[in-house]
Amino acid sequence: MTEEKLKALIREIADFPKKGILFKDITPLLENGAAFQSCIVLLADRIKALKPTKLVGIESRGFIFAAALSHYLKLGLVLARKTGKLPSKTFKQTYQLEYGTDEIEIHVDSLSKKDSVVIIDDVLATGGTALGAVSLCNQSGAKVLGILSLIELEFLNGRKVLASVPVYSLFKY
Ligand code: AMP
Repeated sequence: MTEEKLKALIREIADFPKKGILFKDITPLLENGAAFQSCIVLLADRIKALKPTKLVGIESRGFIFAAALSHYLKLGLVLARKTGKLPSKTFKQTYQLEYGTDEIEIHVDSLSKKDSVVIIDDVLATGGTALGAVSLCNQSGAKVLGILSLIELEFLNGRKVLASVPVYSLFKY
């Protein structure tokens, strides 16, 4: 399936979850088997050459792509979860949202300094969430090779926030 056809399967919903936000709804794309598969192949092509040792998925829609990519590339998957969900000892990182802050965690034994990882999410917006995930990986001693996102909202300048970490994305707005 062409990238143009895939992009057409991302639906835009105005004023969700709040007034003023144009929400990128990926559910039509996920519901189309050929489209979902094409996306995973295209995303995998973006990061294959980096040769990561593991992938880190950001809760919750990031998990969808991270899990499929982990399977496709035969790589271990590390879960970066919203606070309070992981059962064992964790590293925690507070990160900036558009309004307020939030916190994500990973297990302390998920990564080590031997790891070099790619962090996966569905949408890169302001970059706050991805930056939080980068800090978590750094706390574990792991090297972050890049951020991979299905969608990048370029007008929000997430790349700038992420500074030295390369960003790979499929669909730019
Ligand atoms: P940010 O921390 O601003 O980069 O926001 C990234 C997170 O918010 C991602 O995990 C996305 O799932 C979600 N997100 C932000 N903006 C949108 C949007 N316009 N449409 C869909 N999801 C969004």
